[in-house]
Amino acid sequence: MQDFPFTIRDVASVMNLRIRHRNTVSLDVDCPLCDDHKGKMNLNFQKNVFRCNRCGESGGMLNLYAKAYGVDLQTARKEIIEATGGSAFKREQIHRREIESTRPQITNAEMAEDAVKHKTYTRLFEMLILADCHKDSLLKRGFTEEQIEANGYKSTPVYGYKKLTKRLIEEGCTVEGVPGFYRDKDGEWTIYFNRKASGFMIPVKNPDGLITGVQIRLDHPYDGRKYIWLSSVNFEGGTTSGSPVHFVGKPGDKTVFVTEGPLKG
Ligand SMILES: [Zn+2]
Repeated sequence: MQDFPFTIRDVASVMNLRIRHRNTVSLDVDCPLCDDHKGKMNLNFQKNVFRCNRCGESGGMLNLYAKAYGVDLQTARKEIIEATGGSAFKREQIHRREIESTRPQITNAEMAEDAVKHKTYTRLFEMLILADCHKDSLLKRGFTEEQIEANGYKSTPVYGYKKLTKRLIEEGCTVEGVPGFYRDKDGEWTIYFNRKASGFMIPVKNPDGLITGVQIRLDHPYDGRKYIWLSSVNFEGGTTSGSPVHFVGKPGDKTVFVTEGPLKG
């Protein structure tokens, strides 16, 4: 269907049609195509079509204008747009802007330096524990106790996110610009974990050995993913994971998946 920057209501107003009755989804007007003075023409807003119950003429809104003034459809369209100044089009644009402005605006923080992220994540991992269920699963995968300890895996916490974050800040760690941290509705810093994304955390290091990202091996994979990055991109003051390393696939490609690299390494 062709997209018009106006409606049949605009056409009626351009043609200065006499309105006899207003209905829920239509208007009864005097038919400009016959000698009607009793509002026998019905203009339907939902379908942008007309029908005269007196002369039987009917069709789309462009036809109405074209028939009344003896012009072709293209001319009708052009003249209506000129006459309305694209009013319906402008209304649509304003409407869209209104919808956008009612959406909460989120401003992300700029990604912190690797050294800053490393300090915060190192302390975060020190504050957390590895649950027995996760340790058992790693042992079953063939890891030794020493490897598990050295790799620094920790379980995602289930509560106390704000307290944890507060402690980090008090100890001189920067949370702004570190993926996972964001400001809650009260403007206070916290870290984003949720039940759906429970699992154990894997510190992901850059070539210099600094922890620059965190992956979570999910207890219950969803959307076909076993691993997700710790991120706070959807929150005020949050930061995207930036997917530091071990990422396979092209950016923006929906089939992108995270390798088991950090786990095996
Ligand atoms: Zn008529």
